[in-house]
Formats: sequence, structure tokens, C-alpha cells
Amino acid sequence: MRVYNPQKRILVTGGAGFLGSHLIDRLLKDGHEVVCADNLFTGNKRNIAHLHGNAAFEFMRHDVTFPLYLEVDQIYNLACPASPIHYQHDPVQTTKTSVHGAINMLGLAKRLKCRIFQASTSEVYGDPSVHPQTESYWGNVNPIGIRSCYDEGKRCAETLFFDYHRQHQLDIKVARIFNTYGPRMHPNDGRVVSNFIVQALKNEPITIYGSGLQTRSFCYVDDLIEGFVRLMNTGPDTPGPMNLGNPNEFTIRELADKVIELTGSRSTIVDKPLPSDDPMQRKPDITLAREKLDWTPKVQLDEGLRKTIEYFDQLLETA
Ligand code: NAD
Ligand code: UDP
Ligand code: UDP
Repeated sequence: MRVYNPQKRILVTGGAGFLGSHLIDRLLKDGHEVVCADNLFTGNKRNIAHLHGNAAFEFMRHDVTFPLYLEVDQIYNLACPASPIHYQHDPVQTTKTSVHGAINMLGLAKRLKCRIFQASTSEVYGDPSVHPQTESYWGNVNPIGIRSCYDEGKRCAETLFFDYHRQHQLDIKVARIFNTYGPRMHPNDGRVVSNFIVQALKNEPITIYGSGLQTRSFCYVDDLIEGFVRLMNTGPDTPGPMNLGNPNEFTIRELADKVIELTGSRSTIVDKPLPSDDPMQRKPDITLAREKLDWTPKVQLDEGLRKTIEYFDQLLETA
């Protein structure tokens, strides 16, 4: 009798990064084998060091802008720098990573006839004129600005995913991820949660860009990863795109106050200029994920921030 074996061999690109390393932990916990392909541009071996010696885990240093030939049952494509400082460091490479990376991973999925997941982003909505953002909103993106390499790269990757789906019947899953935070974020990637926590722990001034009245909706990493896995395991009639994020919206000033309170910091607040094309508000409409995945984020901002603060506290102590 043939016993059904649900264990899969899964490729995670960008697996040495913040989200990728949490996803790998989850997939290994679920009993799968994982191959991580990462060029370590923004990722760090420290994020996967605990997996060293795990027979179900394999790391390969690989840049997704080059073809990749291996045999797997599923692909999660996360490779791409995600914070403005990182993706603006080499904007041409950022676009190449999204576009050439998508073509190569889609080509791989096509040859293997396997399911492929794309980590897209709320940035496809740009500076949105619809609030909260639903998947049917087409976005308001500047095609030639300093954020465009990321936003337009991700938009083009979505186009490629849907064209491979229509043209080659590829089984795709496209998630539009909203701001996510948690342990293993980069301490100096310039993102608001990591910046504020590190500044607060060092009792340095907290830098608010612009009025601080702009809003973001912050999702704790464990909630997001649960959403990834649920979306990946839906039937072929659910390709997405699907918003994944926490709809609880906060102003940046509220976030600063919370971080100061939770760290007991002596930091003051300083105002800095708002970077160009910085979206004024962002909040996911997650009706679709609720309906299709029965998914909703569970971790409240205070609880998630406490865990993240603990991580950065230890990191700064050992630095
Ligand atoms: P991250 O920078 O921690 O991880 C990205 C990983 O991709 C890193 O390990 C990096 O080394 C790797 N990488 C970059 N370019 C590569 C290339 N050419 N070839 C191979 N590997 C490459 O960022 P993250 O926050 O973990 O983001 C993961 C994915 O999720 C990204 O695609 C990002 O766009 C998307 N996303 C993240 C957020 C968020 O809030 N963190 C929001 C929306 C979308
Ligand atoms: N590719 C890859 N691994 C594979 C198959 C394809 O990296 O196992 C890459 C290869 O670089 C190819 C791209 O994916 O150019 C797109 O593949 P596709 O089959 O769609 O197009 P073609 O091979 O005709 O260019
Ligand atoms: N921000 C800020 N101070 C910082 C870092 C960021 O006020 O030290 C603001 C930034 O201008 C933006 C928001 O916080 O309005 C979120 O920034 P982040 O880079 O984390 O994410 P994104 O803009 O990509 O959503």
C-alpha cells in the first residue's frame, strides 16, 4: 500500500532574510525539506545559523537573477531587498532581482510543473488614493521616482506571475505583504520599527520623518508566516493577489510613543524631512484573506513590539 507522504522539498529564495528565515523555520517544523537560495545581499547567515547540521535544510549562495536548476516540489520566491535604504543602494540590481528573478523562478516552476509563491508588496499600491487598500485597487505609483525600482519591479513581477499563469497554466500564489516587523529585522535597515527600537534602546533621539501623522499598519512576523502557508496551500483557483497584513493602523508618532513607553527610554523625538514619495497612509483590507484562508492577525502591536525589543536588546548587548 502506498502511504501518502505530505512532506515536500521546498525552495525558499531570500531565505536568509528576515521573513525567509522565519518561513524556513515554519516549513521545517511542518516536516518539510527546505533549500534556501540567497546571495546574502541583505540576508545574514546568523538568521539561519541555528539550522546548521539540520539534515532537512540546505543553504546555497545564489543570485536569483541567474538561472537555477534543481528539483523541488514548491517554490517561495522572497529574494529582494525590502527596506528603502537597501533597495535604493543599487536600484538597477533591485529591479533585476524582481524581474529577472521572477522570470528565472517562473521558468523553474514551469519546468517542474510546481506551485510558486511570490512575495509581492503593498508598495504596488504606491501612495494610495483608496483607503484601506483592496486587491482590486490598481495603485498610484510614480514610475520614475526613487522608490520605483522596488514598486515597479514588484508590479512587473506580478505581471509575469499572472502571464505565466494564463499562458503556461502555472499554479501561482501572489501575496501582497504589508509592513511586517519582528525578531531578525535588520538593526540598521532604516525601517521605522527597527530604527525606533534601536534609537530607544540606545537613548538616542527618535527620528520622525515629516509630520509623523502618516500611517502604517504593522503585522507581527508569526501572523504573516501563518498567512503565507495558508495561502500556499489553497486550491489552484486562488492565485491571488491577496493582501496579508494587520489592519490596525497607527501614526508614526503613535508608534514612537509606544516604543518609548515599552523600552522605558529617555529618548527625545527629533523631526527630520519626509523622504520623497513616502506614502501618507497604508492599511490593508484583508476581507479576501479572512474569507479564503480563515486568517486574521492575532498578535497586537504591544505584544509584538515587546518581543522585537527583546531581540534587539540581546543583539545590541552582543554587538
Ligand atoms: P530581507 O532583506 O530581510 O530579505 C530579502 C532576502 O533576499 C535577503 O536574505 C537577501 O540577501 C536576499 N536577496 C536579495 N537579492 C537577492 C538576489 N538577487 N538573489 C538572491 N537573494 C537575494 O527582507 P524581508 O523583509 O525578509 O523581505 C522578504 C520579501 O518580502 C521581499 O521580497 C520583500 O519585498 C517582501 N516584503 C517584505 C515586507 C516587510 O515588511 N518585511 C513587506 C512587503 C514585502
Ligand atoms: N530557468 C531556470 N531554471 C529552470 C528552467 C528555466 O532558471 O529549471 C530560467 C531560464 O533562465 C529561462 C527562464 O527561467 O530563461 C524562463 O524560462 P522559460 O521556460 O519560461 O523561458 P525560456 O527558457 O524559453 O527563455
Ligand atoms: N520613518 C520615520 N522615521 C524613521 C524611519 C521611517 O518617521 O526613522 C517613517 C517613514 O518616513 C515612513 C514610515 O516611517 O513614513 C514607514 O517607513 P518604513 O521605511 O519602515 O516603511 P515604508 O515606508 O516602506 O512603509
